[in-house]
Amino acid sequence: MSTTANAYAAHSADAPLAPFSLTRRDVQPGDVAIDILFCGVCHSDLHTARSEWGGTLYPCVPGHEIVGRVTAVGASVSKFAIGDVVGVGCMVDSCGHCPSCNDGEEQYCETTGFVGTYNGPDTVLGGYTFGGYSDHIVVDQGFVLSVSHDEADLAAVAPLLCAGITTYSPLRHWKVGPGQKVGIVGLGGLGHMGVKIAAAMGAEVYVFSTSPNKRDDAIRLGAKELIVSKDADAMAAHANSFDFILDTVAASHDLDALTSLLKRDGTLTLVGVPEHPHPSPTVGNLIFKRRAIAGSLIGGIAETQEMLDFCRDHKLTADIEMIAINEIDTAYERMVRSDVKYRFVIDMASLKTV
Ligand code: NAP
Ligand code: ZN
Repeated sequence: MSTTANAYAAHSADAPLAPFSLTRRDVQPGDVAIDILFCGVCHSDLHTARSEWGGTLYPCVPGHEIVGRVTAVGASVSKFAIGDVVGVGCMVDSCGHCPSCNDGEEQYCETTGFVGTYNGPDTVLGGYTFGGYSDHIVVDQGFVLSVSHDEADLAAVAPLLCAGITTYSPLRHWKVGPGQKVGIVGLGGLGHMGVKIAAAMGAEVYVFSTSPNKRDDAIRLGAKELIVSKDADAMAAHANSFDFILDTVAASHDLDALTSLLKRDGTLTLVGVPEHPHPSPTVGNLIFKRRAIAGSLIGGIAETQEMLDFCRDHKLTADIEMIAINEIDTAYERMVRSDVKYRFVIDMASLKTV
């Protein structure tokens, strides 16, 4: 039986989010039905709700940092049982047989592209997918993660499903570890997880920030220093010294100021996806030291499980501010002002009282 989910949706790019009902599919043989306990608030939710990237389908139910409890499983599901605590991140499906899917890099699916947890094509019901700002969801078991942190930490685990994996994956891919000097640009949801994870991997971590008042937090999270990115002298003091820089900034900015801080063969990897493009970087800055600018998209399912287990073992969760669902518009406004410490998480029980 398909079910009706209570949710919050954006009905247009400039309207506040509002209550909305949607249909979840019957549990298929390979599906897991999940009651959502907590859902993190990613800047991608805001970009999509406001159609800053274009292509948003309305009504839009954002949310791809989901932690919840299994309430039903399909006949062929063996990995999960009723009562298990599980997570769902940015993807709910992919083609399953292209070279990237075969490599466990479903986020780079080469045939259909990955199916986003929201605003993606719904291959079972038709229409498009609705995300985690809702009371339950039905997901193919191949896109469900096991959560084994302490139950008391589950709200702070939710942001790992996007902010955690989006920083863990490039830090692993570019082999960040002991003896390396690593920069994290932007101390927001992604950035603060990047600091924690890179420090846990053994790197010496520096934060580049537009917010000098985040210095104490940066150091508490594991950084050696916070460098104010608007301070040209402070930046110049670190010229040619970084092995790797991860840029999580959600707005257009000058990349040359960062590439010039890389050592020979260093890489600046972009994960922030601003509404407007960055100014074109200077080629000379790259070729004279064989520096690279790269990009990275979330992470595969197997790597997401690896990240969750790594974070459990290193006792890492997000620093969160819990909100009720009807506070979501205020949370978005604060996110635009870089006033998030360091991830909003929606307590989904609040859906019952609005
Ligand atoms: P967030 O919590 O809003 O953090 C972004 C941070 O960037 C802010 O806290 C701020 O840090 C800094 N910042 C904001 N405006 C800036 C500006 N004009 N110039 C310089 N720095 C600025 O956002 P998030 O959830 O971490 O997401 C960050 C970006 O990553 C978004 O574009 C999101 O869509 C994208 N994303 C990408 C992927 C992927 O797979 N590649 C996955 C998830 C999200 P300071 O105060 O420290 O300067
Ligand atoms: Zn996200």
